[in-house]
Amino acid sequence: MDDKVVLITGASRGIGAATARLAAAEAWRVAVNYRKDLAGAEAVVAELRRAGADAEAFCADVSLEADIVGLFDAVAERFGRIDALVNNAGVTAPIGRLEDYSAQRVEQVLRSNVLGPILCCREAVRRMSTRHGGSGGAIVNVSSAASRLGSAGEYIDYAASKGAIDTLTLGLAREVAAEGIRVNAVRPGLINTSIHASSGEPGRVARLADSVPMRRGGEAEEVAAAILWLLSDASSFCTGSLLDVSGGR
Ligand code: NAP
Repeated sequence: MDDKVVLITGASRGIGAATARLAAAEAWRVAVNYRKDLAGAEAVVAELRRAGADAEAFCADVSLEADIVGLFDAVAERFGRIDALVNNAGVTAPIGRLEDYSAQRVEQVLRSNVLGPILCCREAVRRMSTRHGGSGGAIVNVSSAASRLGSAGEYIDYAASKGAIDTLTLGLAREVAAEGIRVNAVRPGLINTSIHASSGEPGRVARLADSVPMRRGGEAEEVAAAILWLLSDASSFCTGSLLDVSGGR
């Protein structure tokens, strides 16, 4: 039988790229989604292929429904099946207080971090659910410790988007539990990736490291390990779980 196929959104760098590397090492075939970072996505795919894995890059903006539908069709055409989805793509917003937010900013965060993952889940369920003739599968949503901390003074809209991801995970897990699909989430804490530079503070992890009970930021590979566990049969009785990967924060 062909190796299983996982689609990882936002896998051109950071946690998504680390998840792609670990998935390939664990014999998954990997669909690497990216939005703008073609060079990053191509470098990840080249690395996976050098390691002997089957991988392909797919450009799609997960804040757009048409792109999402096209992404799932393209992955199904290229690999012939889809067994797992990692809803990893996400954006923060410039650090600031809520009274200064524009509607456009909030809409962008919610489109990328909530609408996109919900529609990706829809496309995955349509293909994986035994109700639709599929063979089941696994979905892992990448939430954030922000969903329970709230991100006051930084990006409450982002934190709220991750609260929605937690609730999506709980609800969808129950909706499709009897149809062969497990749905879980990881909630990373402060992880060393470029997302912090995107919101205007490249040194954010170092500044806040002392507030982490383990006194350090985490690495993308440490989050990837939790994601791969939730994708694997080793977590076969877990669904609707929200797994904190936050050094105790
Ligand atoms: P990152 O280094 O900024 O990478 C983000 C990835 O998402 C990139 O590959 C980017 O691709 C992609 N992306 C963003 N918007 C997209 C869209 N609309 N469509 C498709 N791809 C899109 O971020 P990261 O730290 O690895 O974050 C990954 C996930 O972990 C996010 O959901 C984030 O909220 C979550 N998280 C991160 C931390 C942390 O401390 N790093 C903590 C908690 C949760 P392009 O460049 O091509 O757009």
